[in-house]
Amino acid sequence: MTSEPGSEEPMSQAVMHPPEVVRHDEPHDPPATQGGEVVFSMRELAVSYSGTMAIRDVTFDIAARQITALIGPSGCGKSTLIRCFNRMNDLVVGAEVHGSLTYHGVDLYGSKVDPVEVRRRIGMVFQKPNPFPKSIYDNIAFGSRLMGKRRDLDDIVERALTRAALWDEVKDKLKESAFALSGGQQQRLCIARCIAVEPDVILMDEPCSALDPIATAKIEDLMEEIKSQYTIVIVTHNMQQAARASDMTAFITTDVGEDGARTGRLVEFDETNKIFTQPVDPRTEGYITGRFG
Ligand code: ADP
Repeated sequence: MTSEPGSEEPMSQAVMHPPEVVRHDEPHDPPATQGGEVVFSMRELAVSYSGTMAIRDVTFDIAARQITALIGPSGCGKSTLIRCFNRMNDLVVGAEVHGSLTYHGVDLYGSKVDPVEVRRRIGMVFQKPNPFPKSIYDNIAFGSRLMGKRRDLDDIVERALTRAALWDEVKDKLKESAFALSGGQQQRLCIARCIAVEPDVILMDEPCSALDPIATAKIEDLMEEIKSQYTIVIVTHNMQQAARASDMTAFITTDVGEDGARTGRLVEFDETNKIFTQPVDPRTEGYITGRFG
């Protein structure tokens, strides 16, 4: 694999060893997808840590320019799964990814894929806002400078902060430390930092769990606004948030095997409205109605 369709620059030679990829000859049919351009396609995806399976049987597609929520009880493997999408699990000692995961039809774990380039195209926002110990301006300009851009930085910074709905609040204090911002502003700054390097996908792992309801609403509004340009995948333990903010929802739960081993499994993937009003699987219904999880 060399590049995604439409991309001008090929992904360069891998600089890190991909985790072991175990292929299945006859992948199961995926659950019904929503049509449209497919960004990620998973077939029998599974992840183990030091040989212990954390999540398995994950087969579904994620479409472009939609918000896809991953929900399920704590420990079912949501963070493990979202980390597959930008190869963050490569950085976790003992993690192995099995099955197949393509990005725009290209094997994301192929030997020629550069994980650093993957993480530029597929940005990530974490649970706790993690601005760099730098000014607001330097946080946003960081990725562009890293890529060798020296010109138009002012425009890049303004555009990213505007898209992240933060410009008006910070335009007069760009040289101040990012740590001087509130938690909600810091999280929008992290989204702006992601946007500044022009990603294709934004992954969000519980982006609002450290925020108050007003800051949470601002992030949800922002997600809605930017989804026409980006594909967004969000892990959330907040079911109201999944119901409000996402187009598609994947429900994952934990199975306990006869040997007592706990493994996450994809139970159901569908339009969010359907998952929350007419789930097919009783386990999904039990979870969304609060009977377990
Ligand atoms: P969730 O995000 O749904 O709470 P996680 O993906 O964090 O679930 O965890 C899924 C399972 O994988 C849990 O059993 C957890 O203990 C295990 N796990 C997660 N990260 C690691 C790791 N770095 N090393 C070993 N086990 C891990």
